[in-house]
Amino acid sequence: MKVLLIEDEERLRDALARGLRAEGHVALEAADGADGLVLAADPSLDVIVCDILLPKVNGFRICQELRAAGVRTPILMLTAKDGEWDQAEALDAGADDYLTKPFSYIVLHAHLRALVRRSPGDAGVVQAGVLRLDYRTGNCRLGDEVISLSRRELALLGALVARSGRVASKAELLDEVWGKGFEGDPNLVEVYVGYLRRKIDAPFGTHSIQTVRGAGYRFVAVP
Ligand code: CA
Repeated sequence: MKVLLIEDEERLRDALARGLRAEGHVALEAADGADGLVLAADPSLDVIVCDILLPKVNGFRICQELRAAGVRTPILMLTAKDGEWDQAEALDAGADDYLTKPFSYIVLHAHLRALVRRSPGDAGVVQAGVLRLDYRTGNCRLGDEVISLSRRELALLGALVARSGRVASKAELLDEVWGKGFEGDPNLVEVYVGYLRRKIDAPFGTHSIQTVRGAGYRFVAVP
């Protein structure tokens, strides 16, 4: 899944993003409503998690503006109080589901899975040429061939595929796949790109993950 987290409580946002990434999902983070609205326009998002009380633009407004703009990505609202007023208003504003704080990561994840399952069409599935990534099952296919990827490999490939044809810098990939504030070796990106090439390119004689010297990596779909 590709998930956008709009939450100003840094510890909560961090914990959720880390949990999602550890399972191979891609997590984008926004610390206020204005950033959230910008990132929410990404058509490759599978689900948006949105707090209500946020700096700049509140969660209700975000929901209303996205729906008014025709964005149909499922939205899970985080309600701080357990009053019915907040929850009813979240649904009225165009949210698909809500969760009352505090909640466990396991419950959040179950709600996200259910939302993605319920959403129309191929939400959670990304097709790029012969490559098909299914975030709901963690499956990767190249044509009829099933490719076994680790969660981290799946997340990295997903981040590259989301920018198909465009260059992703190492820093962007580190942020998205390993998380902002990751302090390990940045060469991990290179190492994992190597793993991916061995699985999705080398056996087929293709070059779908290209190195762009000094800039990063670019995914070019194999038709
Ligand atoms: Ca808040």
